[in-house]
Amino acid sequence: MGYLRRLPRFEYLAPQSVAAACDALAEYRGEARLLAGGTDLILQMRRREIAPRYVIGLKGISGLAFIREEAGGNLVIGAMTTIHAIESSAIVREKCNLLFQVANEMGSPEIRQVATIGGNLAGALPCADFPPALIVLGAKVKLESRRGERWVPVEDFYLKFEQTVRSAEELLTAIQVPAQPAASGGVYIKFHDRHSMDMTTTGVGAFVSVDKERRAFRDVKIALGSSAPVPLRATKAEALLRGHAFTDEALEEAAEIACSEAEPRSSWRAQREFRLDLIRVLIRRALRDAWNTALGE
Ligand SMILES: Cc1cc2nc3c(=O)[nH]c(=O)nc-3n(C[C@H](O)[C@H](O)[C@H](O)COP(=O)(O)OP(=O)(O)OC[C@H]3O[C@@H](n4cnc5c(N)ncnc54)[C@H](O)[C@@H]3O)c2cc1C
Repeated sequence: MGYLRRLPRFEYLAPQSVAAACDALAEYRGEARLLAGGTDLILQMRRREIAPRYVIGLKGISGLAFIREEAGGNLVIGAMTTIHAIESSAIVREKCNLLFQVANEMGSPEIRQVATIGGNLAGALPCADFPPALIVLGAKVKLESRRGERWVPVEDFYLKFEQTVRSAEELLTAIQVPAQPAASGGVYIKFHDRHSMDMTTTGVGAFVSVDKERRAFRDVKIALGSSAPVPLRATKAEALLRGHAFTDEALEEAAEIACSEAEPRSSWRAQREFRLDLIRVLIRRALRDAWNTALGE
């Protein structure tokens, strides 16, 4: 954390279309940064962590802020959609309550008015709340450049600390969330010290589909935030639960396994041991809540 100073000098570009933004990215490559809501970028610039020569503002591209349901039930969200728009969306509430939970718990009302889902994903902060939730939902991001477009699963989007597979020429334009199967439910639970001001100390996303007759897990996905340099999927813990009956012992064992998969660090926010304790507790809670949601209880 550094002191906030005046913004460094930069040239501001305001493309009015995705194609024009891609042209600007191709022309200025490593010298340019995209500006969405600016809730991360402006602070990074004022702390002098980055000082881009060109800032490409995305606000003028109206076609990037939308939420719609596709044929087949997939939900597609434009990268410039604000967190407030997501928490206020009737389609999100109806089709994917997990995304409503994440949006509703993020930052303060002021932050939610300007911060975007695209900025939350592309910023690649390990404590960002949307990546673990979108990973358990099996979501993909759309990347566009002059060369064309590609879809990347959110799970494969993150390479290492604050680094993604997005090249300097690519713009993240949309997020696609697949339709959820019957008898399934998802939950995101986070721990943070002060509501609305503090970033997440540890976050857990869980998504389960259940076999009601056998009272067993059909499928389980668990993803952790602030528990490694990138959002992390706890695949070994998931494997233990898949097909397993829902019991307290199984949840406890899965939580222990997930702790062995996590690599949390000690920081001024929390010690590694405390984060591991949080993972242990939050995973059990998230799985139980997801199970109850899937059963409709
Ligand atoms: C007080 C406060 C509280 C906060 N609380 C939370 C919280 O609870 N949970 C949480 O997850 N975050 C939180 N944040 C962090 C931040 O608000 C979010 O990460 C937000 O979603 C970032 O979106 P933005 O539109 O402001 O991104 P910006 O700051 O504009 O951009 C962030 C990064 O993404 C890049 N980028 C933006 N859009 C695109 C795009 N379409 N394609 C490619 N790259 C792009 C930018 O170049 C930049 O590197 C908080 C921040 C503050 C200041």
